[in-house]
Amino acid sequence: MSHPQWITVLGATGSIGLSTLDVIGRHPDRYRVFALSGFSRLAELEVLCLRHQPRFVVVPEAEQAQALRDRLSSAGLEARVLVGEAGLCEISAHPEVDAVMAAIVGAAGLKPTLAAVEAGKRVLLANKEALVMSGALFMNAVRASGAVLLPIDSEHNAIFQCMPTDYARGLGEVGVRRILLTASGGPFRETPMEQLAQVSPEQACAHPNWSMGRKISVDSASMMNKGLELIEACWLFDAAPSKVEVVIHPQSVIHSLVDYVDGSVLAQLGNPDMRTPIAHALAWPQRIDSGVSPLDLFSVARLDFSAPDEQRFPCLRLARQAAEAGGSVPAMLNAANEVAVAAFLERRIRFTDIPVIIDEVLNREAHAPVESLDAVLAADQCARGAAQAWLQERGL
Ligand code: NAD
Ligand code: MG
Repeated sequence: MSHPQWITVLGATGSIGLSTLDVIGRHPDRYRVFALSGFSRLAELEVLCLRHQPRFVVVPEAEQAQALRDRLSSAGLEARVLVGEAGLCEISAHPEVDAVMAAIVGAAGLKPTLAAVEAGKRVLLANKEALVMSGALFMNAVRASGAVLLPIDSEHNAIFQCMPTDYARGLGEVGVRRILLTASGGPFRETPMEQLAQVSPEQACAHPNWSMGRKISVDSASMMNKGLELIEACWLFDAAPSKVEVVIHPQSVIHSLVDYVDGSVLAQLGNPDMRTPIAHALAWPQRIDSGVSPLDLFSVARLDFSAPDEQRFPCLRLARQAAEAGGSVPAMLNAANEVAVAAFLERRIRFTDIPVIIDEVLNREAHAPVESLDAVLAADQCARGAAQAWLQERGL
């Protein structure tokens, strides 16, 4: 690809968005920011605009767009400021864009990410919820458009790095026996079970190894993050759920492994810093500096492994069941989880209510095959409604 490449960063103000801009800023000869989007921290978005000089910016509301346009203009930056989901889809699919970092959190990222896929872009996928919701549709769109899909989730990026280049022929065909998906176990790996009902959002968001947005931090604490990642791995690598094994590895130095039929197991290691997978996906198949310090194995000293405890982490079991059920179930699992996590962060429910809500939504609502985007969105809405009803029935 000729240089510099034009990059759109969806969710620029978030943890992944900022790490992406950090890597891009190290390589002004290779990458230029085409567009940035933000949702809530608009003062920070303005600072990012002044630093990275995008041609387009997207904010949620028309009034905010006008205010930002005026402020950028008075600072000498004539960026086009677009609004809402239509604006996000426009900056994802714009003909001049080479690559899109999909780093909006949750279902809100689905349409813009799909727009990038359908436009045949290089898509750097952090927004795992988009793929979990729309699975087959998403992967069919990748094949139909010729988009280059590169995983940003550290585990999937590690698996991608450990796979043979022709893995799309089928894992059996290329001699892959299993995918070993590592998990830190989060902040509550060893918390006494009876204390889990009392843990606070602050405790849940205090991840031992990674600094991330609040939603994914809670998902990591409940291990729903690993459940979503299991579903993500099945779609990305065309693997049956039974071929993906979750391994607790508290140091988060091995980011995942691929087990081959000859007994070889390939792993990717590195410091837990998302700039490594971001730099890998930006430059693939080349390698560029990410700003991440070299791994010091002597200070790591040891690597531990254990099996996950599904009694402690029922979300992991629910996600595996959803992966096996397929159809609308993963989209419903994701939607119920989004509602439950938001309620937990607002202190309306206990941490241990999260899997209870998801389980009840999945048991109560009908499941269906999903053959269209409308069907995915309907499943999402149905599960959100059922989760909200659970809260309302209890006056929460
Ligand atoms: P974050 O909360 O820090 O940032 C989310 C971004 O999305 C922000 O820019 C926010 O403005 C935007 N956003 C939120 N709601 C929106 C909406 N309704 N419409 C449009 N934009 C909206 O989250 P994050 O930690 O950066 O995670 C982003 C995605 O990357 C998630 O899907 C997460 O699972 C995935 N991911 C994150 C990490 C990590 O280390 N942070 C690692 C792997 C995967
Ligand atoms: Mg991950």
